[in-house]
Amino acid sequence: MSDSPILRIAIPSPLRRSFDYLPPTQGGTSLQPGVRVKVPFGKRTVIGILLELAAESTIPARRLKRIIEVLDKEPVLPPDLLNLLIWGSRYYHHPVGEVVMGALPLLLREGRLNRLANNHIWQLTGVGRTISARELSRAPRQKALLSILDNQPEGLHSRQISQQYKNWQPIMKKLEEKGWVRRIESPFLPVRMDPLSSKAEQRPTLNQAQQTAVNSLLESTGRFSVSLLDGVTGSGKTEVYLQIIEQVISSGRQAIVLVPEIGLTPQLLNRFLRRFSQPVALLHSSLSSQERLAAWLASGCGEAAVIIGTRSALFTPVKNLGVIIVDEEHDTSFKQQDGFRYSARDMAVIRARNAGVPIVLGSATPSLESLYNAQQKRYLHLSLPERAGGAQPPTFRLLDLRRQPLQEGLSPQLLGIMEQHLQSEGQILLFLNRRGFAPTLLCHECGWVGRCRRCDTHLTFHQQERRLRCHHCGSERPVDPRCPDCGSVDLRALGTGTERIEQALQQHFPAVGIARLDRDSTRRKGSMQTMLNEIQQGHKRILIGTQMLAKGHHFPNVTLVGILDTDQGLFSADFRASERMSQLITQVAGRAGRAEKPGLVVIQTHHPEHPLLQQLITHGYQQFANSALKERQEAELPPYSSIALLRAEATAAETPLDFLRQALQTAGQFNSGEVFLLGPVPAPMERRAGRYRAQLLLQSTSRSALHRLLDQWTPQLETLKSGRKVRWSLDVDPVDLF
Ligand code: ADP
Ligand code: ZN
Ligand code: ZN
Repeated sequence: MSDSPILRIAIPSPLRRSFDYLPPTQGGTSLQPGVRVKVPFGKRTVIGILLELAAESTIPARRLKRIIEVLDKEPVLPPDLLNLLIWGSRYYHHPVGEVVMGALPLLLREGRLNRLANNHIWQLTGVGRTISARELSRAPRQKALLSILDNQPEGLHSRQISQQYKNWQPIMKKLEEKGWVRRIESPFLPVRMDPLSSKAEQRPTLNQAQQTAVNSLLESTGRFSVSLLDGVTGSGKTEVYLQIIEQVISSGRQAIVLVPEIGLTPQLLNRFLRRFSQPVALLHSSLSSQERLAAWLASGCGEAAVIIGTRSALFTPVKNLGVIIVDEEHDTSFKQQDGFRYSARDMAVIRARNAGVPIVLGSATPSLESLYNAQQKRYLHLSLPERAGGAQPPTFRLLDLRRQPLQEGLSPQLLGIMEQHLQSEGQILLFLNRRGFAPTLLCHECGWVGRCRRCDTHLTFHQQERRLRCHHCGSERPVDPRCPDCGSVDLRALGTGTERIEQALQQHFPAVGIARLDRDSTRRKGSMQTMLNEIQQGHKRILIGTQMLAKGHHFPNVTLVGILDTDQGLFSADFRASERMSQLITQVAGRAGRAEKPGLVVIQTHHPEHPLLQQLITHGYQQFANSALKERQEAELPPYSSIALLRAEATAAETPLDFLRQALQTAGQFNSGEVFLLGPVPAPMERRAGRYRAQLLLQSTSRSALHRLLDQWTPQLETLKSGRKVRWSLDVDPVDLF
């Protein structure tokens, strides 16, 4: 390497490349990749990340600019994480600057210090210990603070004190002035610890299948392996995770646990806190930027034993990784749907491989991709075929809706069965994947229908707020009492959403507590938790909700699950629709009968003979998955092939198609014939948020052939003139084809 190395910097920019700079005038040769730097970029000054030191640049040295400032001594992105992100940017063909900077907590992205302010441990001093309660009888709050510190010889962190007391800082300050307490600089905010419980909860005795799974996983600690933990709902998968993690953290290593929804993290967090007396870092989208940085730092320095979070928690630095767990691995929320379109599940496997540690993918309804990998013996297949602790699998019943008088989407049989379950003290969960009051508002006089001005879709009628809302672009407007076309007042709501069901149930069961869980009812921070508590305590006996309810919740008293509308999912054009539908039904059904009381699952349908439904309820998800895999094989669809989708959108309908046609033509020169290009075609919903959308699908039975083409093709796409008139993006391994 020459005296003056070239610094290759990742800068957040839509260009798929890094940028070369000269080191600052002083030093710079000993810089480590992963540190943040401030650089001139166009007319601006921006923060980027040093990717590598290189000996030379394709740009002559006199034209290279110097770095203004190096912000860190130690890398904010340690080498393993930096390499993972670089791998991700290559595999998903997303600009490396956006990928690496996007992984940082906001405060670090803005250039703030890589540590936290106001971070202290509070301890009693020797004098403080001698203060008797009597001396403080007239200062009850000082007394209270002293007594909680008295129970904690090692002191308490400010964060832990805040969990119990409001506005304690001025009082603590008084105690400090008196010399009774002292503060110790603590480098990090430890995350969540249960300040009151010092004793860990008893763990249950594992059943045979759980024990076999745990043993097999423990055998693979210290080296890379992927295990698919395929366990029916309520089979005790979480218990298996807990016991693995317990072993891992007792050897001083850390565990990353990825979950699909933030709604699930508090539940899981509490279970972890009850079990381990170790700090747990929580990472999800609704943290404040301080909290996020705290969790990130605690994880990076090894203080947090367990890191639980949604998708992006995968990109947390970890000092000494021992295991990665991906719970509900089939869930599509692990795939980011915009910007950097990565799959956190798939990248978790890469992270585990690089670190040489085991990874567990758990689900009651594994994705066909993971099942295929297990069949190919790339993954270890561990099954938990029975429910833990003696709970029985639920019974299924199909209710034929044909010719039935429906009350707001509820059949008389279902209402009758609900009556019985309410009488025998059970809880009921009703599932309908449509929020709002009704999906369509229609004028009975002239046929006018409320449509979104910016999308090819109807507006959903939200009755409580008297608004029409587009669930695709978010635009909304108040509901006129009269038809905008003919002035008639005979406006009718067609179809059923959760709000309408809730209203119908209130009329039908006026004395019963009803909870509605969907994106509308849980918008306020904390409202989800409040509702879940009310459900757990039994104040709410009927729960109506969208897929939010399907995910991982444990409601021990639910004896009846009603699936109100399956018909939509039976006839969709997406090749993954039947997989999604089977997962959803199985997961929702899995909320029934999880404890002593047996569960019943009732499915309302106009197509009771549909083979998919029949197979699912008589033979279960396993069999469905086997036959679905056969179909995929015959059609050469994933996982028997790899796909990528090039999307484009613009304000005129032809523009995206023009770009895609040119893109298709360009691909020709790189295609060895192993990759099929299908399209371009308009997206299934062509206009969305005022933009016309189109797409081009790439498919190949050889993943490497597909990626060879993408590697050569994407740089060319950046240079296409027609590309400047559109917004385009490439989605590698897309989960949605529109
Ligand atoms: P899953 O994650 O597969 O849905 P959980 O781990 O949540 O299942 O377990 C379901 C219920 O069974 C929980 O209440 C859990 O405490 C209980 N459970 C799990 N394993 C056992 C066991 N070996 N013995 C008794 N109860 C168990
Ligand atoms: Zn009208
Ligand atoms: Zn819209």
